[in-house]
Amino acid sequence: NTPTAELQKLDAAHHFHPFTDKAGLAKKGARVILRGEGCWLTDSEGHRILDGMAGLWCVNIGYGRRELGEVAARQMMELPYYNTFFQTTHVPAIALAAKLAELAPGDLNHVFFAGSGSEANDTNIRLVRRYWQVKGQPERRILIARWNGYHGSTMGGGSLGGMKPIHAHGGRIDGVEHIGQPYWWGEGGDMSEDEFGLMRARELEEKILELGADKVAAFIGEPVQGAGGVIIPPKTYWPEIQRICRKYGILLIADEVITGFGRTGNWFGSQTFGITPDIMTIAKGLSSGYAPIGGSIISDEVAEVVGSGGDFNHGYTYSGHPVAAAVALENLRILQDENIVEHAANVAHPYLAERWAKLADHPLVGEAKLVGLMGSIVLTPNKARRARFASEEGTVGLRARERCFANDLIMRHVGDRMIISPPLVITPAEIDVLIDRATKSLDECYAGLKQDGLLVEKQG
Ligand code: PMP
Repeated sequence: NTPTAELQKLDAAHHFHPFTDKAGLAKKGARVILRGEGCWLTDSEGHRILDGMAGLWCVNIGYGRRELGEVAARQMMELPYYNTFFQTTHVPAIALAAKLAELAPGDLNHVFFAGSGSEANDTNIRLVRRYWQVKGQPERRILIARWNGYHGSTMGGGSLGGMKPIHAHGGRIDGVEHIGQPYWWGEGGDMSEDEFGLMRARELEEKILELGADKVAAFIGEPVQGAGGVIIPPKTYWPEIQRICRKYGILLIADEVITGFGRTGNWFGSQTFGITPDIMTIAKGLSSGYAPIGGSIISDEVAEVVGSGGDFNHGYTYSGHPVAAAVALENLRILQDENIVEHAANVAHPYLAERWAKLADHPLVGEAKLVGLMGSIVLTPNKARRARFASEEGTVGLRARERCFANDLIMRHVGDRMIISPPLVITPAEIDVLIDRATKSLDECYAGLKQDGLLVEKQG
């Protein structure tokens, strides 16, 4: 029952979370979230907030599922922790790995557990380099990723990611190269979307030829770039990436931390975009955020090669943590038994898709794109010219986000793009609320920009 102002004061004094500082929220006071139910959050002032971001792309089954708490409590009493390193294992890790092998496409049948998506991507760096060592080609150690991709915040994950501000803080590891992102609106120029998708995929081939195929271990990408602003690639992009990886024998890693577990309307984004990766990174929706857990799902071939090389000296204390694994398993049971992935696909198309597409009629909105329950709109002062604002990138996005927040809707901004990724259990009635609040927020943002003289195009 501590008053909100007191909580905010303590938060500002001791809880170091610099992102909120950047948005000016820490100064004004970050909202304190107390509880959740379905798609709704309640803050310390009693406001009911519609969560358009599922936490941080996590809470696919929605908030407040008691079953997960009960499973966690039971597992904590029975066996709160054990490792899976030295000739021991335990039931939750065994059962979860088997379940994931059943759900994952193709021959992705083996799971290496981690505590988060970042850790899983660090695992992937070691895995693919170890794979080529065992195959007698140790010089194949470069990973190719994309600018503006996101693969986590550890040194490995942050290096694979293509976010320059992250590279600027602490540098990056060696042996990672980046190519352009398939972001047609921002970078496609006069090309059609399909041409641009092919062009960006072929940058992979150019990079491979520049480096030498015998130096390249793997390519990593998110089926849909999430943290980069929900960049949905042209349909030509992924098939061409897959073709190039196969041509040069390069391993393909799909980072499904966001796109996994129903987000794009299939169990995995790889299925939506028609690719067959050798390794898939998973986290977030794996437990719907109820417990921290991630992992790498590995193909038969990769597992066989790495397994035949003797010890793979890699592991985390919390790899396959029994409580987290039990919670993840229960989450998957709920997703499956309640047909939540099918629900997501059905509510996304056409119900949300039609309403989302209409947002592009708003004077402030350029493209409005959606795949499954993952969508983005780009804010622009001139949609015909796909123009950017003259103000620093992100200024308008932040203003729009703050209007949403004031209207009790959580959307995120990435630069001057606005994104959504609601819990997969969202209903048509809740979609109406989301669209109404988003439209109201855009109207208010537009009026504010007009008033402050900020509806100005960037020149050149
Ligand atoms: N990969 C992707 C695609 C992500 O979106 C994220 C988190 N946003 C990560 C990896 C890192 O996961 P974590 O924050 O659990 O380390």
